[in-house]
Amino acid sequence: MRRRRVQALVIGSGAAGLAAALRLKALGVREVVVVTEGLQHGTSINTGSDKQTYYKLGLYGDEPDSPHQLARTLFDGGSMHGDLALVEAACSDRCFQHLVNLNVPFPRDAYGQFIGYQTDHDTRRRATSCGPYTSRAMCRALIDANRAAGTEVLEGWGVSDLIVLKGRRCAGAVARHARTGRWLALLADDTVFAVGGPGGLYRDSVYPAVHNGSIGIALEAGARAQGLPESQYGMASIRFRWNVSGSYLQAVPRLVSTDTAGNDPREFLNDALPDPDEVASLTFLKGYQWPFDVRRAAGGSSRIDLLVHRERCERGRRVFLDFQRNPARFAFSRLSAEARDYLVRSGARQRTPIERLCAMNPDAVALYAAHGIDLHRDLLEIAVCAQHNNGGLAGDIWYESDTIAHLYPVGEVNGSHGVARPGGAALNAGQVGAFRAAERIAARQAATGALRLDEAEALHVAAARVAAARRLLGGTRDWRADRADLRERMTACGGMLRDAARIVAAAAAARNLYTAICRDGYPSAAGNHGLMNRQLAFAHWAYLSAIAFQIESGTGSRGSALVLGPDGPVPEAAGFRGQVLETRFDGRRLRHRWVPRRPIPPATDGWFETIWARFRAGAIYPKP
Ligand SMILES: Cc1cc2nc3c(=O)[nH]c(=O)nc-3n(C[C@H](O)[C@H](O)[C@H](O)COP(=O)(O)OP(=O)(O)OC[C@H]3O[C@@H](n4cnc5c(N)ncnc54)[C@H](O)[C@@H]3O)c2cc1C
Repeated sequence: MRRRRVQALVIGSGAAGLAAALRLKALGVREVVVVTEGLQHGTSINTGSDKQTYYKLGLYGDEPDSPHQLARTLFDGGSMHGDLALVEAACSDRCFQHLVNLNVPFPRDAYGQFIGYQTDHDTRRRATSCGPYTSRAMCRALIDANRAAGTEVLEGWGVSDLIVLKGRRCAGAVARHARTGRWLALLADDTVFAVGGPGGLYRDSVYPAVHNGSIGIALEAGARAQGLPESQYGMASIRFRWNVSGSYLQAVPRLVSTDTAGNDPREFLNDALPDPDEVASLTFLKGYQWPFDVRRAAGGSSRIDLLVHRERCERGRRVFLDFQRNPARFAFSRLSAEARDYLVRSGARQRTPIERLCAMNPDAVALYAAHGIDLHRDLLEIAVCAQHNNGGLAGDIWYESDTIAHLYPVGEVNGSHGVARPGGAALNAGQVGAFRAAERIAARQAATGALRLDEAEALHVAAARVAAARRLLGGTRDWRADRADLRERMTACGGMLRDAARIVAAAAAARNLYTAICRDGYPSAAGNHGLMNRQLAFAHWAYLSAIAFQIESGTGSRGSALVLGPDGPVPEAAGFRGQVLETRFDGRRLRHRWVPRRPIPPATDGWFETIWARFRAGAIYPKP
């Protein structure tokens, strides 16, 4: 096994990892290495949406905003710690301007003001966008800047384990090269863990197919997590993965289901919603009420998600958007006033959905054409898909794990958000976390000088992890079957619908799968897929176990997850939004507990001289 000794290791090269590496270099940390599956992997560079949103402090005209007001909006989503909300708000402008200064083309006016728009769970116009591919534009700018800064990037590697010393200190990671099978121990003073959200856990997923995420590695090592059950789900096409939000549904396509072979087409919405005008109006509304939201499940647009889910998951049928024909008995004049008004103002009164879509958003049609799907002719297969995890690993206000020192989870793998978050807050949180972790690492390394890492102990742990991984790759299981199994289970039991009667058995089955994988292993030909399966299986056990605990606690339905009890949907119980659900593996069992959420630190007048003095003395950082 080769080894490298670095000051700072960054695992993952999405928008968060790249930002962390660049900040570390800028702050004077000399030896920074990024280890990654590849610069073209991950969610950030591969994904987008109608208008992919970046959420930030309001910076336009005389619309007032402040770190505290923004923190309040983040905090109001529920089950989010107030100090983290304040950090994400306070550093928002600085991180946004950093991207602007790297030439990410965020729109501004002739005076340099950054115009914004209102996004979901927002109270004012704080959101901005570069178009469908905001996070890709961020990644490309960050890759260029890292190249210019001379950051070393190791591509083609799959990190299998963290190196965690007995004193619960992270000392780097071990990685296996996907093509050659070579092993590498990366010994690091500090490790930024930027491996993205848990995309590989679900069958119905709009995360890019290439992205699996690796939270399981840190969970297995004992890093504390919070808010694991809080995810966001919404309707997306699945052949080419893309959210069908905005104009795709505002054009009011026909929803049709077929059997698995594509026969027996039926307009299934009409069974549950006999009023055709309601079907059309709810379909329209779903366009801008995109994520599945339990508050809209009874009488609102989220009924569409539920019916799509039932058709796929309970009836085993396939569901499509048909842009060539209107829904049955569609009449423009009988649409809701809101829908009619919007379509008229958008010049979209045409006869068919595809004509309306072309009138409103021709790029939306071109996007699918570029991926081999002609909406003029083809049906578009959809599902209600997992899109984002608000929860993840827990960190302090410097994004350092509180159970494994020197490990900094940033980006989507950091679970700073709770039940709901404003659209676009994920990208802001990733940039803020990267910046905070880098600042903390640079300050700590400057203060303590050369690292006092016990290299012998680190190498010993690394060798033990590699030996275990090698054993895992000397077995018999079918990695594809296991991957399909865990994804099926997560979509069926840990997705938008959570059946109280099934969740405990699902968590037990998840644990059994993880145990069986560790015991029986995969043939060596499985390579990094086998190693990936081990941590995915662990993660799916942790997620299902946390969901089971949450349901048992009586939280009821909230956010983007509807809990089903013996008498149907369980309403949300009061009080839980003031708490945060923590999860931790103690080496044998997963332990869950509710803790009160920390409040937003009070807004004070502050006093320049005292704050300056504390800053100069380095007293803003935790004591070593
Ligand atoms: C369809 C869709 C639309 C979205 N729209 C928005 C939006 O409008 N606004 C918003 O704020 N957010 C949005 N999000 C969420 C947002 O895009 C993600 O949260 C964010 O891009 C994640 O960035 P990241 O850097 O944390 O992770 P990623 O970009 O996923 O990067 C993870 C990196 O880690 C690497 N990696 C993972 N495991 C390993 C391993 N074991 N070894 C080596 N490398 C590893 C990967 O290869 C990759 O380089 C959307 C997400 C989706 C799926």
